[in-house]
Amino acid sequence: MTPAEILKHIRNIPDFPKQGIMFKDITTALKEPEVFQSIIDNMYEQIKGLDIDYIAAIESRGYLFGAPLACKMGKGLVLIRKSGKLPAEVVRQEYSLEYGTDALEMHKDAVEKGKKVLLVDDLLATGGTVRAAVGLVEQVGAEAVGALFLLELQQLSSAANLPIPVYSLIRC
Ligand code: AMP
Repeated sequence: MTPAEILKHIRNIPDFPKQGIMFKDITTALKEPEVFQSIIDNMYEQIKGLDIDYIAAIESRGYLFGAPLACKMGKGLVLIRKSGKLPAEVVRQEYSLEYGTDALEMHKDAVEKGKKVLLVDDLLATGGTVRAAVGLVEQVGAEAVGALFLLELQQLSSAANLPIPVYSLIRC
């Protein structure tokens, strides 16, 4: 299945979670086994040549793609979580939202110094979330070598402003 065919299974929900946002609902794609499988296969093809030590998946929809890819690549999976969820010592990175701030955390010992990390999330919009994730990887002395997304919202053209290479399956 091509990325264009995959896109047909992703539903647009206007004004969710608030007015003016066109929400990309991936649940309709995940429930079709051949579509989900195709997403993972296509993502794998994009990144299989990269020299990485870990896949770091961003809570929560990043986990859906990061976990099967880590298995397929034979790499360790690192969890980047929302504030207050991880039990051991964490590094923390705050980032701005439209209203106020939020924070992402990662276990301090999740990635060793000098290791190469590929970040994974479902969607790139403004890039604030993934930029915070890059900050976490850098705080522990590791290197974020790229960020992989199922969807990239081109209108917001954040890829050009990110400090690392962006791999996205579908630009829309
Ligand atoms: P950003 O930090 O602006 O790049 O936003 C990316 C994060 O917010 C990702 O974790 C997405 O899951 C979520 N997100 C942002 N915009 C949308 C959208 N239009 N549809 C679905 N998820 C979105």
